[in-house]
Amino acid sequence: LQASMPRQPHRICVCVRKRPLNQREVELNDIDVVTVPCQDVVMVHEAKQKLDLTQYLDNQIFRFDYAFDDHATNELVYRHTAQPLVETIFRGGMASCFAYGQTGSGKTHTMRGGFSSQSSECSRGIYILVAEDVFRRLKDPSCLILELRVYGAFFEIYGGKVFDLLNSKKRLRVLEDGKHQIQVVGLREEEVTSVEDVSKLIEMGSKCRTSGQTSANTHSSRSHAIFQIILKKRGHLYAKFSLIDLAGNERGADISTADRQTRLEGADINKSLLALKECIRALGRNKAHTPFRASKLTQVLRDSFIGENSRTCMIATVSPGMRSCEHSLNTLRYANCVKEL
Ligand code: ADP
Ligand code: MG
Repeated sequence: LQASMPRQPHRICVCVRKRPLNQREVELNDIDVVTVPCQDVVMVHEAKQKLDLTQYLDNQIFRFDYAFDDHATNELVYRHTAQPLVETIFRGGMASCFAYGQTGSGKTHTMRGGFSSQSSECSRGIYILVAEDVFRRLKDPSCLILELRVYGAFFEIYGGKVFDLLNSKKRLRVLEDGKHQIQVVGLREEEVTSVEDVSKLIEMGSKCRTSGQTSANTHSSRSHAIFQIILKKRGHLYAKFSLIDLAGNERGADISTADRQTRLEGADINKSLLALKECIRALGRNKAHTPFRASKLTQVLRDSFIGENSRTCMIATVSPGMRSCEHSLNTLRYANCVKEL
């Protein structure tokens, strides 16, 4: 009997990705305290001191669906995380993929790709890798009859407000209609017919995101960026793939020292990341109630947390250095919480 039952694919996939030590960390003599002993285990070797001042290593072990070490390419990470979810959207389901972690741990490198400090080659990120598979899939004869058209949207959430990255950061309102459908009113959805089209949208949106900023990381560490690939059938929504580069999760930590503005930002980011955790947990445990109203982030992604056909994956990114140990452990504990039981 067991063999004849089709196995329900997992609704949630949680993995961790460790980046290499960067040049700055090497110069500061930081040491690598994160190891990936096998493909689903990550260990953090935390240096601690006993009362008598003897030093010892406290090894903390976490198990995930996958653990990627610093040699893993974006393609490899993609293959085990977002790629299986392309199938989900062609079946009319909602898919989402989150990059979660400390600022500088590799979220944008994973999602958008780009030049890494390690090599001069530009690596493609998950945005483009999804787009490639979507356009490849569209050519399937079984797919042609669906008459699907593809659109891209790109927006960010900063301080609980939504801004359109494809329309000069225009502030957008979020409304819930009588049927509990959430609408980001006026969000620009550009039709795309090729991977190059998608690539242009990403470039345009990324430029818009950092425009007027002194450093690319100051702003992006405080806002969530959401890139969506939308499938429509005869003008109606068929499916959506949301790819989310989350705000840095370290914001809460410096709450005592920060100025008022930074504190408020930190509190808002904390609130949205906590809400996200609860929504993903609700999806994995088939809970009746999904607390998506608790933050703008979870509100706009409501579709992805409900319904039989929703699937999600989280890529928790960690820095390997001893100096980042506390943040890395926080990231791993959070990711551990959203795992499907
Ligand atoms: P975040 O978006 O989490 O703040 P970034 O993606 O901007 O972090 O990464 C910080 C720096 O580390 C960038 O220069 C990036 O190229 C580099 N980096 C991140 N992850 C990797 C990786 N897996 N391999 C090589 N370089 C990486
Ligand atoms: Mg970033």
